[in-house]
Amino acid sequence: MQVVRTIAEFLRLKRHLCRQDASEKLRRPSVGFVPTMGNLHDGHMALIRRMQKDDDIGVASIFVNPAQFGPAEDLTKYPRTLEDDLRKCDEAGVHLVFVPDESEMYHPDRSTEVAVGEITERYCGASRPGHFEGVSLVVAKLFNIVQPDRAYFGLKDYQQYRVIERMARDLDFPLEVVPCPTVREWNGLAMSSRNNYLSPEEKTVASTIYAGLCAAAIAFNGGVSDAAELVRKAQAELDDAVKLEYLEVAHPETLEPRAVAERGDVMLVAAKVGATRLIDNIILGSETNNAD
Ligand code: AMP
Repeated sequence: MQVVRTIAEFLRLKRHLCRQDASEKLRRPSVGFVPTMGNLHDGHMALIRRMQKDDDIGVASIFVNPAQFGPAEDLTKYPRTLEDDLRKCDEAGVHLVFVPDESEMYHPDRSTEVAVGEITERYCGASRPGHFEGVSLVVAKLFNIVQPDRAYFGLKDYQQYRVIERMARDLDFPLEVVPCPTVREWNGLAMSSRNNYLSPEEKTVASTIYAGLCAAAIAFNGGVSDAAELVRKAQAELDDAVKLEYLEVAHPETLEPRAVAERGDVMLVAAKVGATRLIDNIILGSETNNAD
């Protein structure tokens, strides 16, 4: 595994690796890519394992992207565990890990924006102004640098996945955006680097978020399709200390809110437990929500 800090060095090493692999296999190798902000947990590693299985050359990036954090958000205290992350990537067989610093990624006078439009406006986009513009900008840049054939994204960040998928389609990035199921703690809590901020008691409180989503999914399977009723079913499971930001049923691709749920719709939730903001979702009528 090679750890690369500059774009020029990344391009040089990737070219070298591809050439080597092509002459061994007598065909152009496929390049997989998993972009991350580091502090790697089993959710990230599931994406990386999928990439290692499906692609000849595995690339991961670790970059805590300042452009996607609001001024009052947790950029400075976001957990940074580079040594541990690199060890995990190495053990998983990743070929190249791109670890740029801010000055490598952003010119001081950058002015280009990547705005994906309406799909970014609701839910997390409403409560985190500028967040998805920061995500789409950095992912577009990383796609141009890495030029992968496949890029893997977690369904845990459902809206982000749909935003990236839309961006890749609209801007003709020649790659496949591959969604990967949410990996959960034993109690159902979706794995997240932000779970590190939770006390053990708060983790128990936070696990009721997934219990709520499951209750809605069970009600849907039992014939309830009224979205407001599904929301009530979910709310009934939530610990009082879960402070909801949004809890809604939406069309799985456009993310338009639904009054009447259909099979395949997504129930999206964001909530605060203590000072920690958590997100999760479930697909209604699906048996494949989780990575087991
Ligand atoms: P992050 O480091 O939080 O930017 O996440 C990097 C990638 O890992 C994104 O595509 C996330 O959706 C994905 N990811 C994070 N947590 C999980 C999880 N619990 N299960 C599956 N994918 C995840």
